[in-house]
Amino acid sequence: MRNGEWGIGRARRLPRARLAGLTAVVAAIAVASSALSCSAEPAGSPEQRSGAQARAAQDSTAGAAGIGDPYYRLDGNGGIDVLHYDIDDTYAFARSGVRPRLSGSTTLRIRARQDLASFHLDLLLEATAVRVDGVDAGFVSGAHELVVTPATAIDRGQRFEVVVEYDDDPSAYSWRGERNWLANAREVVTMNQPHMAAWWFAANDHPRDKATFDIAITTDDDKTVLSNGRRIAREDNGDGTATTRWRMADPMATYLAFFAAGDFQVRTGTSPAGIPVTSAVSRGFGAAKRQRLWTVLRRAGRVTDWLQTELGPYPFDSTGGLVTTLPAGFALENQTRPTYGGWIDASTQVHELAHQWFGDSVAVDRWRDIWLNEGFATYLEARYREAHGGLSTQRWMRRNHDALRGLRSFWKVDIADPGPDRIFAEPVYLRGGMTLAALRHRIGAADFRTLLRRWAAKHADGTVRTGEFIALAEKVSGRRLGGFFRAWLRAPKAPARTRANGF
Ligand SMILES: [Zn+2]
Repeated sequence: MRNGEWGIGRARRLPRARLAGLTAVVAAIAVASSALSCSAEPAGSPEQRSGAQARAAQDSTAGAAGIGDPYYRLDGNGGIDVLHYDIDDTYAFARSGVRPRLSGSTTLRIRARQDLASFHLDLLLEATAVRVDGVDAGFVSGAHELVVTPATAIDRGQRFEVVVEYDDDPSAYSWRGERNWLANAREVVTMNQPHMAAWWFAANDHPRDKATFDIAITTDDDKTVLSNGRRIAREDNGDGTATTRWRMADPMATYLAFFAAGDFQVRTGTSPAGIPVTSAVSRGFGAAKRQRLWTVLRRAGRVTDWLQTELGPYPFDSTGGLVTTLPAGFALENQTRPTYGGWIDASTQVHELAHQWFGDSVAVDRWRDIWLNEGFATYLEARYREAHGGLSTQRWMRRNHDALRGLRSFWKVDIADPGPDRIFAEPVYLRGGMTLAALRHRIGAADFRTLLRRWAAKHADGTVRTGEFIALAEKVSGRRLGGFFRAWLRAPKAPARTRANGF
């Protein structure tokens, strides 16, 4: 994710800066763009919900409500490993006096990680039916947690298929103060972090459980639909609607799944190194503006190629990007096809495509480790500028250190554990990026290059924690770096200007 203008050497872009956290931004945008701002009532009476919770508490084979991330206790679910999502959604745009509607089903192929008499999924929409291996299941829907009780209990290690059906207004829902449905009467893009899935499909909504995806979206036949990975088919249904099918063949975290529908100009091609590219710009922008956006976006293939020379092979089967007119005010690293909310600039494109390695392929195991995404993407913006005749990463680090040295609020954030409401705070990005620039100077460019490439290769399609990165940095460099990382990631003051700290 990328938002606002921080530090030295970034291209100027968004008028707004220094926001405490993205959640607040998103909430503000959603309220501004939504006619109604009341929170939807969760389905199921309080009695039903507390009854289900009581039964779950008594039953030792109930899957936990969350995956175990202390930042967001209800994110993800216990006892299940989703292998594949097959999303089949129909979206009806809002019309005068009529709210938007999202109906359809999510089919999840799951492996049980424990015996399960019941299990949870994350879904804000009200479920209308749930089947497990083709048999109707009991369920309680509401308040983000969909509790499913199959007719027959499931054994540890068993593979099973769950179908969840829904028909609801996604714009009516908020979660943790976030109103993340981003749409108007002409365009919709499902983009947000860390929460987005529960507005449009039933999910084990945490990056620790990645899965492959088939995403089919049915909507008005004059709309173009984009999503992750490769487009498989578009079928005209003969009733004014069309169904577009996309496939993400590599494992993906749930928040990185997206679809966009609207009047998009689409360009497909291949990067010089041979990676298929699909990019799109909304025709809601005027022709001149659209041309300016394309001058940046059309370089997605070349930027991906350059990142391969830095980081090793691109982890996925296609690349590109999408610029929407919807004023998200941020860009997001949706897998294979980052989304840009209202603008794109060269540095932001480098940031989002760098996330394909760090954030998407190598994902966080806990949200507290978010600097492993944002610090890395920010460092690669600086590295890209250096490699293209700009400021060196070391000078970039030193200039930021100079400018920020006396700013206590900046150094107060523990970027290896910033807290759930600060995962997108400025220091996570900038101090994180400066950490890597300093590390490169400390261990040398050759070892640093080996480190980043080995990190990307070793943990491809996996998840990571900060301690693992420190251990690999020590192994690759043959140095003890505990003091270095304490000073750069955790100490509540600017690192001293010492050789040990990478100066
Ligand atoms: Zn980012």
